[in-house]
Amino acid sequence: MSRALPVNKNDFIDVIFEDLTHDGAGVAKVEGYPLFIPNGLPGEKAKVKVIKVNKSYGIGRLIELYERSPYRVDIPDSEKPKYGGCQLEHISYEGQLKYKENQVRQVLTRIGKLEDVTVHPILGMDNPSHYRNKAQVPVGEKDGKLVAGFFKPRSHEIVDMDESVIQLPEVNEAVQTTKEICSQFGIPAYNEETHKGVLRHIMARYGKQTGELMVVLITRTPEIPHKKELIEELIVRLPKVKSIVHNVNSKRTNVILGEKTNLLWGSEVIYDYIGDVKFAISALSFYQVNPVQTKVLYDKALEYADLDGEESVIDAYCGIGTISLFLAQKARKVFGVEVVPEAIEDARSNAALNGMTNAEFAVGEAEVVIPKWYKEGNKADVLVVDPPRKGCDEALLQTIIDMKPRKVVYVSCNPATLARDLRILEDGGYKTLEVQPVDMFPMTTHVECVAQLILK
Ligand code: SAH
Repeated sequence: MSRALPVNKNDFIDVIFEDLTHDGAGVAKVEGYPLFIPNGLPGEKAKVKVIKVNKSYGIGRLIELYERSPYRVDIPDSEKPKYGGCQLEHISYEGQLKYKENQVRQVLTRIGKLEDVTVHPILGMDNPSHYRNKAQVPVGEKDGKLVAGFFKPRSHEIVDMDESVIQLPEVNEAVQTTKEICSQFGIPAYNEETHKGVLRHIMARYGKQTGELMVVLITRTPEIPHKKELIEELIVRLPKVKSIVHNVNSKRTNVILGEKTNLLWGSEVIYDYIGDVKFAISALSFYQVNPVQTKVLYDKALEYADLDGEESVIDAYCGIGTISLFLAQKARKVFGVEVVPEAIEDARSNAALNGMTNAEFAVGEAEVVIPKWYKEGNKADVLVVDPPRKGCDEALLQTIIDMKPRKVVYVSCNPATLARDLRILEDGGYKTLEVQPVDMFPMTTHVECVAQLILK
């Protein structure tokens, strides 16, 4: 028989929060048994209701706060941030930075067993709101008008979002105005349940450095009613618009973009700069969403790569080549590897756009392509990795250990897998000198880091 749990479902209990989970929920312990409670902050005393019990942890709801954390800030609607993707909006920015920096320090010690690495104070934003250059919001109907915002959790209901605190004002305005215009012309919203209706999502992208705006209408139907008038109205009411694109997604799916894309007006792409490097952004391209902090992150990666113009550099998991082109400004040659073929096409055209001839790109899995290069006798002096959340493949880490590049720069969006991979590289002959956390996504729980390793 299993041991009885210290709490039961529907119990009301008093707790003190000790920590935050990586999703930003408060953690309280009852006789060692952890309870996760959204909206609780470390140090706070509260009454909570237990709503679910599992073998190793429980879930609760905050009922009454007895003692408030100095980092708590009041927000207009405490429900919205969670499903609007702003899980940390109820924490002051100072508190958010402290939480993220602590998280990095903790996992480097606990998972990475890295005791003597310098972890720098996290680089935050001077103004941590209204930073996102892109929005893609689902469209629904309420009281005969269009609403656009986000899905309520576990429902088909769309909550109208008047203004997102994390999106650039130009992006908020583009979404609002497009929604109003479509409403005015009586364009029906798509309905997920019945798979009827027209407008599924509105997407807006904005080049912060160039002031160029793109609006993408994503519909179920191949035709948009009142197309001509709609375009005319968009151009008049959104003076910054340079590109209006139509994407058709006729499938029953929660994937946002469909297979067919056609240009309704203006240019196929908008442009933006990160530092001195220019990028073309199409409706489908991946592009970093926080341009200000992207520059901070890439500058740090470039500093850690410490290039003098003679090096051969490999950029693994290169996406559309943003880091590769940044490095190519200072290296003899850069080789980028990425698994998505369209991203590599973008990387090549971005290299051409900047007149850079010292960057080459290959499609494939980093853990396959780089070992092959190594076997063929192609080595790098400096190797940069920027893997997805699951971290680097072991075969790639082993190739790095065999290839012995003088320096490794590890850009990471998940401190836990960063710590795991740094331990493997340490055991294989590398030393982690410094780790720099960078806050790329204020108000959310995401933490980005860049680490510098040298061959021992
Ligand atoms: N460095 C880029 C993108 C990093 S995101 C930037 O800063 O913009 C991680 C990228 O790794 C994604 O583009 C993803 O498509 C790619 N990827 C995922 N698994 C991969 C693998 N096994 N080999 C190569 N690329 C991979």
